[in-house]
Amino acid sequence: MSIIDTPKKLPSVDRLLKDVNIASLLYDNGELLVTQCARNVLESARCQVLAGKFFESNDLIDNLIEDVHRAVRPSLRPVINLTGTLLHTNLGRAALPTSAIHAMIEIAQGASNLEFDVIAGKRGDRHKHPETLLCQLTGAERALVVNNNAAAVLLTLNSLALRKEVPVSRGELIEIGGAFRMPDIMARAGCKLIEVGTTNRTHGKDFETAIGSKTALLMKVHTSNFEIQGFTKSVDETELAKIAHKHDLPFITDLGSGTLVNLEDYGLPHEPTVRETLFAGADLVTFSGDKLLGGPQAGIIVGSRDLIEKIKRNPMTRALRPDKITLAALHAVLKLYTNPSTLAEELPTLRWLTRNVLDIEELATRLIPTIRKYCKNFQVEIEHTHSQVGSGAMPIDKLESIALRISKPKLRRPGKELKMLAKAFRQLPIPVIGRISNDALLFDLRCLEDEVGFNNNLRQLTLP
Ligand SMILES: *Cc1c(COP(=O)(O)O)cnc(C)c1O
Repeated sequence: MSIIDTPKKLPSVDRLLKDVNIASLLYDNGELLVTQCARNVLESARCQVLAGKFFESNDLIDNLIEDVHRAVRPSLRPVINLTGTLLHTNLGRAALPTSAIHAMIEIAQGASNLEFDVIAGKRGDRHKHPETLLCQLTGAERALVVNNNAAAVLLTLNSLALRKEVPVSRGELIEIGGAFRMPDIMARAGCKLIEVGTTNRTHGKDFETAIGSKTALLMKVHTSNFEIQGFTKSVDETELAKIAHKHDLPFITDLGSGTLVNLEDYGLPHEPTVRETLFAGADLVTFSGDKLLGGPQAGIIVGSRDLIEKIKRNPMTRALRPDKITLAALHAVLKLYTNPSTLAEELPTLRWLTRNVLDIEELATRLIPTIRKYCKNFQVEIEHTHSQVGSGAMPIDKLESIALRISKPKLRRPGKELKMLAKAFRQLPIPVIGRISNDALLFDLRCLEDEVGFNNNLRQLTLP
């Protein structure tokens, strides 16, 4: 092994690539990529040598292997969500059930009848695949699935209200986070928003006065991520539907996180179901596939035959259509809903929502010694906390849960040390994501099921 302390002693790219330790790297990753990485490694070594650092030749090999691995590792990869937010938009929202994963693999592997009618032997319609189950589960006449719920709202408004007016209550002109703001979506859909009522109070008569010859439809938006309390009044679905229908207008509801089952049956707070919203008089309901439904990213529109047919004729439907893998997963998830008695077991979202606190506490008790072992200078204890659903469902109600609380009694700069601790957990092979609160790093264990995998992963923890 030789010491490299001047640029002259650096090997050439060719010589570095001929090293026996590089053979399998070349075989696995191809000459093009490895050569490019070798150039980068040598160039950066050259700069460092000029700055007075020195290397052993083995360091260059290690750097090259690491560089190649970094280049080929997928940017999108699994993490462990211990934030306490079940449907975390930044962490990919719903985890899919096993049956959906199998269905996706089966359809991804080869050809399918995505748009082919096997019986008739001619062109078929991809939108037919999820329709039967969606109609059965919601009581709707027709259903249409698109890329996500933002697309569902955009497409619905563009199809039914282009160059026309849509009155919406001022209390429902919401921002969902990121780039979804109801007024912006309406503008892009080509319709004119007519603000009705006030922030805290909107009455039926406010809608009556807003309706004119240019009105296309009435719309209600489920205020997903906040709740106005105090002196408030909103117009409920039944009343709005009546007003709309009296004027011969369709009434549509954006439920956001609509659910297909009564969550009270599972001991959870009530969330409006799609079926009861249709029953209250909505002609169309839009909701997400990957929120409370617990499925793949999708936007689902259900409701009247005429309106869905009209939406399907909009050329934008083609631009927003779902892919075959989404449709395969969605069908498998919907199928679970046909058997409500096993749903809480099979569907991860509902399994985690209904997970017993004692069960989470037992897990916490088992994990404490391990975490203590890896975080020697920290205090690790159990904390009673609350999880939240996230993605706008159940804005106020919180779920009792258990977290591991990692802290240090006398931190000089608590913010900085905790940030470094949190970063160390994020640098694990499977990054572990918690939340910092009250001078501690909290790991809410509600969504942790793979205890063995979690412990194996922890072995790689290196604290600063
Ligand atoms: C989440 C949400 C949306 C957007 O749904 P995506 O599936 O994220 O596109 C639209 N409207 C409401 C009320 C929501 O809660």
